[in-house]
Amino acid sequence: MPWFATSFKRGSKHDRALLLFVIVSYCFVAGICFADAETSPRRFSAVVSVSQPQAAEAGAEILRRGGDAVDAAMAIQYALGVTEPQSSGIGGGSFILVWRAKDHSAWFIDGREAAPMAASPHQFEPFTFDEASMTGLSVGVPGTVAAFQVAHTRWGNLGFGENIKPAIDLAENGFPLGKYVAKILADKKYQPRLNEAARAVFMPNGRPIEAGALLVQKDLARTLRLLADNPAQFYRGEIAQAIIEAQRTSRAGPGGEGRMQIQDLLRYEVRVRKPLEGQYRGYTILTAPSPSAGGTTLLETLGMLEQFPIGDQKTGYGEASPRTWHTLIEALRLASADRLRYLGDDKQTPLPTDQLLSKNYLKARAAKISDQVLKEVSYDSFEQEKGRNTTHFSVVDQEGNIVLVTSTVDYIWGTGMMVPGWGFFLNNELTDFNLKPEGPQLGMELAPNDAAPGRRPRSSMAPTLLLKNDQPFEALGSPGSASIISTVLQTIVRTVDFSQPLKSAVEAPRFAQTSPRDEPSFESGWHSDVLDGLSKVGHVLKYEGRGMGSVQALEWSADGRPHGVADSRRDGTVIEVPVQ
Ligand code: GLU
Repeated sequence: MPWFATSFKRGSKHDRALLLFVIVSYCFVAGICFADAETSPRRFSAVVSVSQPQAAEAGAEILRRGGDAVDAAMAIQYALGVTEPQSSGIGGGSFILVWRAKDHSAWFIDGREAAPMAASPHQFEPFTFDEASMTGLSVGVPGTVAAFQVAHTRWGNLGFGENIKPAIDLAENGFPLGKYVAKILADKKYQPRLNEAARAVFMPNGRPIEAGALLVQKDLARTLRLLADNPAQFYRGEIAQAIIEAQRTSRAGPGGEGRMQIQDLLRYEVRVRKPLEGQYRGYTILTAPSPSAGGTTLLETLGMLEQFPIGDQKTGYGEASPRTWHTLIEALRLASADRLRYLGDDKQTPLPTDQLLSKNYLKARAAKISDQVLKEVSYDSFEQEKGRNTTHFSVVDQEGNIVLVTSTVDYIWGTGMMVPGWGFFLNNELTDFNLKPEGPQLGMELAPNDAAPGRRPRSSMAPTLLLKNDQPFEALGSPGSASIISTVLQTIVRTVDFSQPLKSAVEAPRFAQTSPRDEPSFESGWHSDVLDGLSKVGHVLKYEGRGMGSVQALEWSADGRPHGVADSRRDGTVIEVPVQ
């Protein structure tokens, strides 16, 4: 007989009452605990999905030490600045989309580079894109350091210095150079971009460092150590002074010297705002607001596509049908015309974002799409095809907080100007402004994307989160300038309309339609029926090898468990950190 039964039988009336009280209380407390265990959110492994293995490991390490998604994202970003400096780094800008599991709030941290107060709409007129992008004139006030500082102050768990430590170690002790960076470094087209300081690091003895060889960056390590003590030092003091001096130079002749003053660095402000929100076939989409056009153009295109049953094979659509891809191309052409005409920095110019995304406008725009290629989708912008660079990574921690980052120095190696003695590259983000002012052709003083003092150049970067019934469903983003919008769009269409697993959607061949006029560009791997069908209705197709975009993404299974997906187009890496 168990002890409580014997004591119940043997004990006095008082003992029995006491025992009964103990048992009832225990059941009551246990009931509450079990009920609570059922309702409190389940914890799953944290996941990082990054374009480069050492940077992914930096994020994973921080998560293992108790860091949250913001800490891990900071570690990844700083590490990427060491391991993939041609794509992003402290001399560039970042967009950070944050989703908080506790209250389902979403935030957008705009760390986009800003034009100095001495900028003017005509400043790039004498230059081609290639020339302009190697001048000090194209350097925007960098925002990445400040953006992560703001995110960390709001949501970080570990110390700032602790989060930067993995990057310092990578720079100080070196790491084997990855295949992707080595390939870019070996490319003769990009080598002339590197200034003397950069050549000393990446092409010692005149030869590019090869994949697998150790890359040590002592100057960068010193800079990062200073920032680990106090990130604000980036915007004042020695580092700031060195940035000002470096950008005063021009490799494109007179007039290309940068106009940034120390006051521009001191006055740099991170903008914290709500993400742009839209709906697509029952999913809520949170994405990038101005100064990116990426989010608006993505939502506008999806809004048009919603008028067509593109996932339905029975009505002549579906993945294998040229009609589906024709509809995507045409919707992208229409939305691109609006992007070029109307979008820019909304803190300086009111933008018609609400009108572009209104139901009536989307219906009218979609009604223009017919079976044949539209002859007239024009807005004569001077925008040129740019590089396909940058980086995107995604992180979710064990509490379910999500951080999505698209970060850039713009073109490959940015301006190619490494700040002498400090080991980091300066961006050329200001060439994302109209290189020739478009205000005059529109009969206005300044077009939304003409360069102006303090203005942020229009971007296409689009860190994006899809929610289903207010729960995370898919998180993604990509590099690739204006082709980012096509890449993110196709990944969403494949998962939502064709019900493909995210990994297949990411690995599937892509096309890019980045302007109203230019021909769509196709990666290799498309089915010839699709390509023939598109040619038949009047599309003139361009072809390029595999390498369009690089989507580092997350998806959630029905029980709320996150899974990472990395793109094989770069050295993409997923690491799961199990619940300890
Ligand atoms: N500067 C570009 C943008 O903001 C990103 C550069 C790229 O992805 O290559 O859209």
